[in-house]
Amino acid sequence: MSLVRRVAGWQWWLLGGGLVAALYRALPAESPWSWAVYNVFGLATATMIIVGVRRHRPERVGPWYLFAAALTMSAIGDVVYQVQFFVLGWDSFPAPADVPYLLAYPLLAAGAYRLIKGRISGRDRAGLLDAAIVSTGLSLLAWSFLMRPIAADESLSAAQRLVALAYPAGDLLLLVMVVRLVTTPGARTTSYRLLLAAIGAQLVSNIGYAAVNMFTVYTDGVLDFGWILMYLLWGAAALHPSMRALSEVAPDRAERFTRGRLTLLAAASLLAPAVLTVQGFTDPAAIDWPAIAVSSAVLFLLVVCRMGGLVARVQDQAAQLRALAHNDQLTGLPNRRAWDLELSREMAKAVRSGEPVAVALIDLDHFKRYNDTHGHPAGDRLLKEAAAAWRERLRPGDLLARYGGEEFGVLLPGVTADEAAVLLDRMRTVTPYGQSFSAGVALWDGHEVPEQLVADADRALYWAKNDGRGRTAVPDGGMSPRGHMGSGTRRDADDRARASQAG
Ligand code: GH3
Ligand code: MG
Ligand code: MG
Repeated sequence: MSLVRRVAGWQWWLLGGGLVAALYRALPAESPWSWAVYNVFGLATATMIIVGVRRHRPERVGPWYLFAAALTMSAIGDVVYQVQFFVLGWDSFPAPADVPYLLAYPLLAAGAYRLIKGRISGRDRAGLLDAAIVSTGLSLLAWSFLMRPIAADESLSAAQRLVALAYPAGDLLLLVMVVRLVTTPGARTTSYRLLLAAIGAQLVSNIGYAAVNMFTVYTDGVLDFGWILMYLLWGAAALHPSMRALSEVAPDRAERFTRGRLTLLAAASLLAPAVLTVQGFTDPAAIDWPAIAVSSAVLFLLVVCRMGGLVARVQDQAAQLRALAHNDQLTGLPNRRAWDLELSREMAKAVRSGEPVAVALIDLDHFKRYNDTHGHPAGDRLLKEAAAAWRERLRPGDLLARYGGEEFGVLLPGVTADEAAVLLDRMRTVTPYGQSFSAGVALWDGHEVPEQLVADADRALYWAKNDGRGRTAVPDGGMSPRGHMGSGTRRDADDRARASQAG
């Protein structure tokens, strides 16, 4: 048992596989011994996938069992082929071996599909579109150079044509799965790379085999090494400990549109004009315009969908960024930046309408003491709840913003200074936890720049604080219901403030 465990390590498997390949080369080609080595290796690979699953216990075993079934089908196909060709001397096409050979394709594709599903959480529209773009280009290639010659071959019967077409169709299906697997998020582990390399080796040999057979009959054993490599890599992918992570959901990573991805999409999109050019040069009379037109149209639509997704994402992020840049995180109110913008905009509007614009600054009274007594989190809660309570008192067109710390700005279009003072006194009564604030009001004179207007309100706030807090100061003789502020002119008030500061 311990020997099996040791030998079933992925490094041992690779080493053993290398020896098998050497042995296969050393044995006389097409001899029963070389077939035996080849077939035993194929079946051993399918077994190693089961061993890998048992050992590493991945969360999803389904894909691996499908892969094992597919490799078993391939190995059975080889056995049947060798029996029918070398033992029975049949050289017919289609033949029984085509059944297991072709069955391997949907099994592999189903395994890959379930692997891909496992790696994606939720939707992966961008990855799906990228895969569709690349697959469309590759489909045109496969059709033009592998499938169309078969479909047009008058010497084949309908059944022969169908089976002969099924092979490149299967290869194309695998290729699409590889592309989709490459475009999924998720861990790029050793097992992942081995698996991709295994399917890659298989595809190279399969397509090479199809290409060779198009011109001559495949006899030399070179491509066999691609299939041996495929078995070797499949076994290693299943035995490597990182196979566990292969079908796990990717941690949420922000999708990045890399240069490599862009190059891949550009290359795929250029396949249609490339095929057209090749056909135009070699045989203009046989230009396959329907296939090229359909694939070009599909490519354009897919690229437009992809572009639409990217644009929508940029717009969403711009909106999020704007919200982040213009809102205060704690209270959810507009922040100082939004306040500055809105103030200028409201003043420009007032110039046209001739309506008054009142501005007030609010500052919580003894907030430092509140923090010291109840703790900073309680202070935060007060800020948050006060902001919500005050906001309720305002009209939709008014603006309440967090100016900074425990200071807030109130922008009241179409309101006089006295109306503003009444409103602020009402706001004070809804301040939570029995707290109060001082406020300074300023009315725009129609000429001041925003900074001057705010400075006026700030000066008024200063008066309110100096006059005992818990009140609203209105310059130019305004009255606050809870205590008197600036008496007479602003200059009087300034003098008062200066006097109280000096005192
Ligand atoms: P006054 O009545 O003169 O305004 O007294 P005050 O204590 O409110 O004024 P002061 O400016 O001395 O203190 C403001 C305090 O507000 C100091 C700072 O710790 C607190 N503060 C500023 N921002 C926040 C905040 O986001 N959360 C909390 N909990 N406290 C804050
Ligand atoms: Mg303050
Ligand atoms: Mg304060």
